[in-house]
Amino acid sequence: MQSSVVVFTCDLRLSDHPPLSAALKGGGRVVPLFVRDPAVDRARFAVPNRLAFLADCLRDLDTELRERGGRLVLREGDTVREVCRVAEEADAGEVHMSADVSTFAHVRERRLRRALEAAGRRLHVHETVSTAVAPGAVTPAASDHFAVFTPYYRRWCVQGLRDVLDAPRMVSVPEQVGSAPLPERRDVSGVAPGLCAGGETEGRRRLAVWLRSGVHTYEDRHDDLAGDATSRLSPHLHFGTLSPVEVVHRAREAGGAGAETFVRQIAWRDFNRQLLAARPETATRDYRTRHDRWRGGRDAEADAETWRRGRTGYPLVDAAMRQLRHEGWMHNRGRLLAASFLTKTLYVDWRVGARHFLDLLVDGDVANNQLNWQWVAGTGTDTRPNRVLNPVAQGKRFDPDGTYVRRWVEELAEVEGGAVHEPWKLAAGERARTGYPEPMVSLAEGLERFRRARGQE
Ligand code: FAD
Repeated sequence: MQSSVVVFTCDLRLSDHPPLSAALKGGGRVVPLFVRDPAVDRARFAVPNRLAFLADCLRDLDTELRERGGRLVLREGDTVREVCRVAEEADAGEVHMSADVSTFAHVRERRLRRALEAAGRRLHVHETVSTAVAPGAVTPAASDHFAVFTPYYRRWCVQGLRDVLDAPRMVSVPEQVGSAPLPERRDVSGVAPGLCAGGETEGRRRLAVWLRSGVHTYEDRHDDLAGDATSRLSPHLHFGTLSPVEVVHRAREAGGAGAETFVRQIAWRDFNRQLLAARPETATRDYRTRHDRWRGGRDAEADAETWRRGRTGYPLVDAAMRQLRHEGWMHNRGRLLAASFLTKTLYVDWRVGARHFLDLLVDGDVANNQLNWQWVAGTGTDTRPNRVLNPVAQGKRFDPDGTYVRRWVEELAEVEGGAVHEPWKLAAGERARTGYPEPMVSLAEGLERFRRARGQE
């Protein structure tokens, strides 16, 4: 009987999975394969929070496949070598996988295609598995990508979405293909204590709850730090336990202003991916240089470390950084502020901050992380590259009664009223009792240094 291989990467689900549906179309047997490639670890992408979430995803995928008569095959080693090996063991003529946008993914795809073709097999790469609209599907007249979000979004909205594909009812896996044992979440050390659970089952549950009782207030509440009123679907979108196509269809069915604003955020995700696909070097290089000569040396590193530890003396920045350490996730408003503080107030290179986020974020994603950091640093696509967020003003606006700060900065848990955002206004004795640090830099000095550096005096 004809067999094929489906290589799972960041698409760890059975519902709405074009490579799996295509492989099953012929009615033959299929090897659902995941390869743990040490090259991913070497690129420092395999960090504890994402490895723990991944372990949940692989377990859940295996369980779901077993309910359909199949199982997940796990291999460890170089992806190209392992896929070719499995294809040979299964006598598979075709291999299916989803398209991805990073340089790593492009190189992997090219090498895999060459190796499979040399062995007389074919590689099929499927679009719209990890994005709602494929990178490059909408472009402006004179470029291969959009550099400004609003015109991109206009075109994105009128681009037809494909239909959602059902999860398969039966999957038959060739018996002769063996698997390495699946990883366990409990075997991963250094995981954030408040890390969320992974897996398609959990992702679908969260999506259902979100569409039933969260999305309708998203328009008004997405910046309410204490309310925590965003979807928290980012890790599921990152690992592909949810399909962006399905999420957009279902949000639109839910309807309302909240759903549209939410869908717009999914378009931001596609926007960053089309940008990275067209300009892969932006993972490490400025998209638009501002000729920054970032601070370096020991002082800058010491400042970055104070920021990482959430000890800057600015309560909202510290709350956000501590949330990151505790949950492996941070609210978008916190990410904006923390990134603005590092790159503009401290004038430290965006790559230093992006690396720290990638070390901890469960949704850490090259396209979204690096390009959002560039957006905040003003080296990306923001049309106001020199804006600087003020942590005190942001605190008063997005955490007006200080609940978010009190939740994450335990030294300030008992501080009442507006002083929670300006602890330096407390009486000296009271301030000393909190043990909370003094501001590491004056905002005015930081602003002046940044403006000088950018030639904005
Ligand atoms: P919701 O507000 O519910 O939004 C729904 C979905 O839309 C998100 O899950 C996400 O997939 C997408 N989305 C939302 N905001 C953005 C955005 N600004 N850009 C792109 N997509 C967006 N997002 C990541 O997924 N991975 C990252 O590594 C990442 N790093 C970031 C770094 C910085 C400095 C900043 C400012 C933002 C970063 N974001 C990143 C974007 C955003 O902060 C998160 O996607 C969002 O906070 C996730 O929470 P949520 O799922 O509740 O989002």
